[in-house]
Amino acid sequence: MPPKQVVIIGGGFGGLSAARRLRHEQVVLIDRTNHHLFQPLLYQVAMAALSPSDIAWPLRTVFRSQPNVRVVMDEVLSVERAGRVLHVRHSAPIPFEVLILAPGARHAYFGHDEWEESAPGLKTMTDAVLLRQNMLLAFEEAERRAEAGSRERLTFVIIGGGPTGVELAGALAEIGRKAMGPDFPALRLEDLSIVLVEGGPRLLPGFSPDLSAKAATALTRMGVTVRLDSPVRKVDRGSVTIGTEVLPATNILWAAGNRASPLLGTVGVPLDQSGRIKVEPDLTIPGDPWIFAIGDAAHCPGKDGAPLPGLAPVAMQQGRYVAAIIAGGVPPEQRRPFVYRDRGMLATIGRARAVAQIGPVHTSGVFAWLLWCLVHIFFLVGFRNRVRVMSEWIWFYLTFKPGARVLFERPHGFEQDPIVQGKRPS
Ligand SMILES: Cc1cc2nc3c(=O)[nH]c(=O)nc-3n(C[C@H](O)[C@H](O)[C@H](O)COP(=O)(O)OP(=O)(O)OC[C@H]3O[C@@H](n4cnc5c(N)ncnc54)[C@H](O)[C@@H]3O)c2cc1C
Repeated sequence: MPPKQVVIIGGGFGGLSAARRLRHEQVVLIDRTNHHLFQPLLYQVAMAALSPSDIAWPLRTVFRSQPNVRVVMDEVLSVERAGRVLHVRHSAPIPFEVLILAPGARHAYFGHDEWEESAPGLKTMTDAVLLRQNMLLAFEEAERRAEAGSRERLTFVIIGGGPTGVELAGALAEIGRKAMGPDFPALRLEDLSIVLVEGGPRLLPGFSPDLSAKAATALTRMGVTVRLDSPVRKVDRGSVTIGTEVLPATNILWAAGNRASPLLGTVGVPLDQSGRIKVEPDLTIPGDPWIFAIGDAAHCPGKDGAPLPGLAPVAMQQGRYVAAIIAGGVPPEQRRPFVYRDRGMLATIGRARAVAQIGPVHTSGVFAWLLWCLVHIFFLVGFRNRVRVMSEWIWFYLTFKPGARVLFERPHGFEQDPIVQGKRPS
């Protein structure tokens, strides 16, 4: 039997895990970027603690020693199921026998896409570099104004109290107060304000209530103002409206809401409210045993019936599961349903502070933080990146001097405006 032609859309956690396991098939891996991105550490790039190249690894290098995988850098525009081809932006249509959809998700603005302009989110490397640029420019501008005798509050508002919001708030508090403070002599620490806004009753809703409370207490101690039960009604350039209260903001960061890739809308199967494909128990799409959807693209119920969360381990386990089916040529009637093995959740709050929930064990503080560091180093792709990230963390731990605080030339369009919200460098 000739090897199967397998096409994978997306070189993220799901797509990469699947491709690595498919050693005897002809695999085409399509991604619109040239790298695998370690999203769990994106917030550290956004907060200038790590450099972009520390958390990304070129897909061509990953598959250098796996010649059955052809890497194509292109954007898939639509899936034509009847003709079994993919339409891509820059080249001829790409045919497939077996397809794995792993295009991930993007942040969503609950029907208010116009908010993105004022409150950029964090999903890609471009997003992280934009947030870093915004943060560094805001500090520079505040310093300039303070030197000129005008005291203004430097307020960062982070919307969304999930892991990304908590991590951003913690990192900003540390970098802002301990690292930036000494470097900006005209700024007073009391002029820096960090507000974390969450619509629900607690932070980290995926964690147990005791760990949510610990995260809120730790952030408050670090100087972050935590606002719970505060659904955001409006986001404007320079302000966030909660109920009738208008909160002035120098910088707004969006860490709420996710929506699966719009590409999934072209597949022609039912989607859930978050745009994910409602997959069969073997992660195939309804009506086609050789098209799979995995990771953030899939709505796959867990043991409790609720959809599995958008987490890297879910995507990786699903990638390995579909690769085993494809490699074994397992017919639909012989496939065992996908079962997620939950090995726990971790979220970091700051230097030597994290929360961990591993089965019945709930822990916080230094031990959880060390565990968080180990797990993240272990799952980073590329030995060089592991060494670099570890050395950056040790350096920051000892000196409080983050290593990636480089501001590129002021992007076109920012010359006049001190509030650098949302605009993408052209
Ligand atoms: C800021 C942040 C922090 C996170 N922290 C954690 C954490 O601490 N722990 C955890 O477990 N999870 C975390 N996650 C979630 C985790 O990263 C995702 O669940 C995981 O990346 C999903 O994997 P995936 O393969 O489905 O998609 P992704 O990893 O997002 O990969 C999708 C890939 O598809 C490509 N792509 C998209 N559309 C197209 C297209 N049309 N054509 C071609 N290529 C396309 C993208 O470029 C990307 O490379 C975090 C996510 C973010 C954004």
